[in-house]
Amino acid sequence: MAIHEKSLIEPERLLQYDDLVVDGVDVSGHWNTMITPRTLRDYDEDFEKTIQSYGGGEYVHRCWQCGSCTNSCTMYAQNTQFNPRYWIYLTRLGLKEELIKDKDIIWQCVSCNKCTNICPKDVRPEGVMKALAHWMEDEGITEKSPSTHFDEEFADQIFKTGRIEDSHVLMHFFKKTGQPLMQGWLVEFGKRMTKGLPIAQMLRMGLNMLFPPKTKSWGRTGEVLQQYVREQKEAAHG
Ligand code: SF4
Ligand code: SF4
Repeated sequence: MAIHEKSLIEPERLLQYDDLVVDGVDVSGHWNTMITPRTLRDYDEDFEKTIQSYGGGEYVHRCWQCGSCTNSCTMYAQNTQFNPRYWIYLTRLGLKEELIKDKDIIWQCVSCNKCTNICPKDVRPEGVMKALAHWMEDEGITEKSPSTHFDEEFADQIFKTGRIEDSHVLMHFFKKTGQPLMQGWLVEFGKRMTKGLPIAQMLRMGLNMLFPPKTKSWGRTGEVLQQYVREQKEAAHG
């Protein structure tokens, strides 16, 4: 019988005879394919819990491996190595080393949520992909993604000032991710804005860049909020 997802099996573990007749039945070629057994000892039995402690990974234990997520996946249609069902399977077994082999593509999930819509067990595979990507960043297996830098900058500003200044978030985000401050789309944005002449708004944005505004009496609130986030992270990830 043909083996689905044969590419996931090490080639040396696949046995197949080109010509084979068993009890008068011709089972040549893929009809006689067998997989040699293997013994795995490098699994982490707490890994499923680790991924559950990340936002989006909470329901990974519900998966019954139907494969609907992979079948519907936008990225799988582009690259059959992108396989949410398989990564959820590895997560449940605690096979971290196998997962790490795909570290360069797991983060490519585009959050279209087709998988989440179709999943019959409400696993929220999109969330699991994000949880896995964040776990890899936290472990230093992959570098922080631009979206993580953006999230951190966003949260940092809330802690400090109790509000968000778009221009500040963008400026710091560009710096952290090594991008030029003068981006083509920003220049175009500026040009279009000047056509409508929202002078007051532009002046306010400029002033806010120089003197970041703060929510009134925010200081202590920001500290408490930051402490709470820290405690939650420690409780979840140790
Ligand atoms: S669709 Fe849901 S239950 Fe099916 S394999 Fe994907 S995550 Fe698991
Ligand atoms: S959200 Fe990610 S994993 Fe889910 S279907 Fe879209 S690209 Fe695939």
